[in-house]
Amino acid sequence: MKDTIVQLKEERMNAIMTFIRKICFLSTCYLFFALLVSGCGGIKQIVQKDSPRDKYEKSLELSGLTNAALGREWKIAGEKVLQDTFEIKIPFKEAGYFFSDRANALSYCFEAKKGERLLIKLERDEIHKMLVFMELFTVQGKGNSRSLKRVAFADSTQLTIEEEASKNQKYLLRLQPELMNGGRYILTIAINPSLAFPVKGKDARAIGSRFGDGRDNGKRKHEGVDIFAPKRNPVVAVTDGIITRTSNGGLGGKVIWMSGLHDHENFYYAHLDSQIVHPGETVKQGEILGLVGNTGNARHSSPHLHFGIYLPGAGAIDPFPFINDIGKRPADIQADQDNIGSWARIKSNKAFLKSAPEIKSAVIRALDVNTPVEIYAASSNFYKVKLPGSLDGFVESKYVEKAIGYKYIAKLDKSRPIFDAPAGNGVLIEYLSENANLKIYGEYNGFFLVRNNDYWGWIAK
Ligand SMILES: [Zn+2]
Repeated sequence: MKDTIVQLKEERMNAIMTFIRKICFLSTCYLFFALLVSGCGGIKQIVQKDSPRDKYEKSLELSGLTNAALGREWKIAGEKVLQDTFEIKIPFKEAGYFFSDRANALSYCFEAKKGERLLIKLERDEIHKMLVFMELFTVQGKGNSRSLKRVAFADSTQLTIEEEASKNQKYLLRLQPELMNGGRYILTIAINPSLAFPVKGKDARAIGSRFGDGRDNGKRKHEGVDIFAPKRNPVVAVTDGIITRTSNGGLGGKVIWMSGLHDHENFYYAHLDSQIVHPGETVKQGEILGLVGNTGNARHSSPHLHFGIYLPGAGAIDPFPFINDIGKRPADIQADQDNIGSWARIKSNKAFLKSAPEIKSAVIRALDVNTPVEIYAASSNFYKVKLPGSLDGFVESKYVEKAIGYKYIAKLDKSRPIFDAPAGNGVLIEYLSENANLKIYGEYNGFFLVRNNDYWGWIAK
């Protein structure tokens, strides 16, 4: 009997080794191909329709690996996260871990405002240098009628995506590492303004009145932002453009209209003390157009620039996301990052599994003390965890303790099986003999989480 088990183990090991050899060969081929593509601008444009992930998946298929269990799991994991995703708020920063022994894929869903420029960046640990595929989709519709459209992807060696939101837009970001490789990563989604700040030497802190504020006792709404600055402080072109009109009189006083060369938005600068440019002139971003003043209906208030953005056919829109250059840093990660990639357990009866890394997010379920959780990422003061049985969610880091130390030791009353999951259908790892000492790290679903030699396992209570 024992011989048969050994033989079976050997056969399985041989199959795994063949699989690993195929993967290694594939990674080498893939890297060679990626280098060819990234090193040559001409080719890149021709093949741009296929993302690095598409190419990797094709090479898995060609080598027959998508017929093998792990290859199939990789494909399914990538597809599944397009449906099951977590809603996050940007800016966002997360440190996480990809496990090399399983098919990983992650996704994040978030909203961006028109005028915001997203900078999405993934840093990997230097040791493993795993290939990671990063793709950005726009999300249209909801529920069953939801559709995704891929709008950008990163080169698998330069893991950055820059995207300017052309309208208030929902996005989905997918991350997936290559097979059989893992390691730590840090994901940052930063928000930058898409335009230069219109008043030289100032930033968004100088904005005194916002879009939509009431005017004339609520009879009309403010159609721009007011940026306060000393009289005759230069105002500048927010992008490359052409001056379409200048005039003097009415509510705006001395005004300049400029049209953007790229997106055809119309920019309105009002209450100027003097206009420096003339209609028909083309200007570069940052070029001085005029000087701050208080002409028009601003003659009784402090000097400021009234800055507005108008879309042809759609009227005034909020300029703030286009020029907001402050307060957009993602929250620092306060949860202990040493715990990422390891088992931990719940230490408080106040802990809840939540749908997002936010205090106010929806509760998925309450968590019992000693529930084991596998931590695979951390953001602000939350852990992203997997419960045994692969239910994912977020839990406040203060309710989690690392399962370094075992909770207690138990002695087996009789020989008992250890499984790889806390369920009757788990795969048998081995039988432990009577009187064996067990280190118990947590409990879930009628099973104890135990550590034996080099593996984690589950034993029925
Ligand atoms: Zn104003």
